[in-house]
This record gives sequence, structure tokens and C-alpha cells, in this order.
Amino acid sequence: MIIGLLKEPSGENRVALLPENVKTLIALNVELIVESQAGTAAFTTDSEFEKAGAKIGQRRDVLSADLVLGINPPTDSELEDLKAGQVLMSVFQPLSNKQLVEKLMSLQFTSFSMDNVPRTTRAQSMDVLSSMATVAGYKAVLLAASNSPRFFPMFMTAAGSIIPSKVLVLGAGVAGLQAIATARRLGAVVEAFDVRTAAEEEVKSLGAKFVKVEGATDDKSAGGYAVEQSEEYKAKQQALIQEHAAKANIIICTAQIPGRKAPVLITQETVQNMAEGSVIVDLAASTGGNCELTENDRVVQKHGVTIIGNSNLASTMPLDASKMYGKNMVNFLKLLIDAEGNLNLNWEDDILANTCVTHAGEVMSPRVKNILF
Ligand code: NAD
Repeated sequence: MIIGLLKEPSGENRVALLPENVKTLIALNVELIVESQAGTAAFTTDSEFEKAGAKIGQRRDVLSADLVLGINPPTDSELEDLKAGQVLMSVFQPLSNKQLVEKLMSLQFTSFSMDNVPRTTRAQSMDVLSSMATVAGYKAVLLAASNSPRFFPMFMTAAGSIIPSKVLVLGAGVAGLQAIATARRLGAVVEAFDVRTAAEEEVKSLGAKFVKVEGATDDKSAGGYAVEQSEEYKAKQQALIQEHAAKANIIICTAQIPGRKAPVLITQETVQNMAEGSVIVDLAASTGGNCELTENDRVVQKHGVTIIGNSNLASTMPLDASKMYGKNMVNFLKLLIDAEGNLNLNWEDDILANTCVTHAGEVMSPRVKNILF
């Protein structure tokens, strides 16, 4: 089997495989063709890919491989030119892209969406959402610190005492927990809030305080994800967050519900109540933002508060983000490749079956089918 590695579009610095991953795959008896300059933005040269055993080719050569792999999928017009039966692996975001799913189905591709890997223990090593959320949570705190007019840690100096920054983290999933850990390492006082009651223990274990709103709906069938909350709960939550946000110097927003618009947790009024010079980093920007005033992919100043809307901070750390992404891809590809290096799809494997969006003109993922169709 030939695997083709795409160069990402401009604005995306990561690459889906690094030379170290190419080496591992070649040892599994597959051939690799890498689009020229695919790794440039991630500080990796064509010759490093060649040394690892890949061929370098033009985009059209990569697109004709048996399995075409990237973080972003091929463009709409490129999809039209591919052959039925080709295998595609990308982050398709199927839950917010019904039209694309229909296209993948009608063009008869076998498509795997890496953001659809199930949240199970066995699938953890293939979970790109967790890997990228780890990068984003870390980088969000560094961005907040570099945009803040205050120190994070406490200082007692001859020039007086500095009190530590107060950080509020909204959403204590993978990104939120990494943000808490990073902010604590920098010496801030941290509070966090999540609708999932299980998050309380994790937040406390990182040395942060858990802001608790009673009456949350936890749905065990949601696979570890949050579910929509009642209006009564939302009103209580709004009041409590407003109170804690007004005292925070930094807010890191990470709250999301898969396939839905992000919950609005910080209103314009809340921003008005924050101290001037405060910073909000909103990782939910691409799905509407947790802050009402967030603008996606922009840094704006509102009521003296800097609001950074960025849902792709992983791209700002392309080397380690690609390293993690590539390792996830290799672990997933191992499920699909037999000893001779050929594609062997075992539909009994729950990870493969759940990650597959379309195959032979059908939607395969039960999650995508239930939510979209
Ligand atoms: P996510 O990115 O979908 O959401 C981020 C966080 O926002 C979640 O913790 C969610 O509960 C929270 N949230 C949603 N609505 C909210 C609201 N109105 N107010 C406050 N918080 C809100 O989720 P994620 O970080 O990808 O993961 C969610 C959970 O899944 C975590 O518990 C994580 O540990 C678990 N997980 C398990 C595995 C595994 O077992 N393999 C892998 C990854 C994640």
C-alpha cells in the first residue's frame, strides 16, 4: 500500500507525520510519498523525509496514493478528482460538516476522521483531540501571561510585594486541565469550573479550586463529554461565573459540547465587570466562543480587556504538536495494516468502526449517524 502525506494549507504549520513516523511505517512494509515542502512550517525538510525512506512528490502524486493522509482534508475540488474506494484520513469535523459527510459518502471514499476516535482507554494513544488540546491548554496560558500587564507568581521584593494573578479556567477537560497545570507552574492562583461533576477531583488534584454549581446533568452515555444543561442550571451558573470572573485577571475558556455551538459563559456585562488589563483566551472561538465578545482568529480589546480568540493554538507549536499527532496516526494506522503492508479493515475493531465516517457509500460511525442523520 502507498500512503500519501499532504502538505497542509497556509496558516496550518503542523504536518500529520514526521520523519520518525515515516520510518516506523516503512518498517510495516508500506510505501510513503510526501508532498514537497510538507514539513517546512514544522521545521522539517524534504531531505529528512527522504532519509527516513519516503519519496517526495507533487500534490497530484500524493492524492493518487491508496491512503491519503493529512490534518486538513483535500479541498472540495480535489475530492471530486479522487477515485472511489480511496482511503482518506484527516480531521473532517463530521459533526459540523454534514455536506462534507454526504460528499464522502456519495463519492464512495473510505474516510477516517481522527477527531472521531472513541474516548476509550485502548484508543487513548490515537486520540488527536486530546493531544492537540494538551498543546492548546499549555499555549493558552503562555499567551495570556505574555499579554497580561501583571506577573503570574507572587513576589516579595525590595521594590514591594506583588500579589499572584488569579486565573479562572472554564471547562476542565483535556485543554482545561493542562491550562490549570501550566498556570499553577507559573505561580498563579487558579479556579476552574466544569459541568461534569467528575472534573472536581481532577481540578483539585492539580492544586486549583473547583467552582461548583449544584444540579448539573451528567450523561454517562455521552462518552465522557458534556451534555446540554437545563435553563435553571444555566442561570445559576451564569451568576456564579460572573462573580468569579469579576475577580479574575485571566480567563481561559475551553468549554465545548461536541457538534454544538460552544456555551456562552462570559457575557458582555461580565467583561465590563473585569479589571482593565485582564486577558481572556478563548479556545472555543471557532464554535462561537465561551465569551460573547470573542472574535474568531482575532485579538480584540473590549472594555479594557484583551480577548484572544484562537481554536488552533496547536499550529503555533508545530514541532511538538506534529510529533504528538504523528504518533497518534501511526498507532491508528497499525490497526489498518496487515503484515505485508496492505490495507486490512477489521470492522470488528471498535476503534476502527467508530472512527470511520464513510465506507462503500454508507455512514459507518454510529455517533455521526445518530447526530447527523
Ligand atoms: P471537550 O473539548 O469537548 O470540552 C471541554 C470541557 O468543557 C469538558 O470538560 C466539558 O465538560 C466542558 N464543558 C462543556 N460545557 C460546559 C459548560 N457549559 N460549562 C463548563 N464546562 C463545560 O472535552 P475534552 O477535553 O476533549 O474531554 C472531555 C472528557 O473526556 C474529559 O473528562 C476527558 O478526561 C475525557 N477523555 C477521555 C479520554 C479517554 O478515556 N480515552 C480521552 C480524552 C478525553
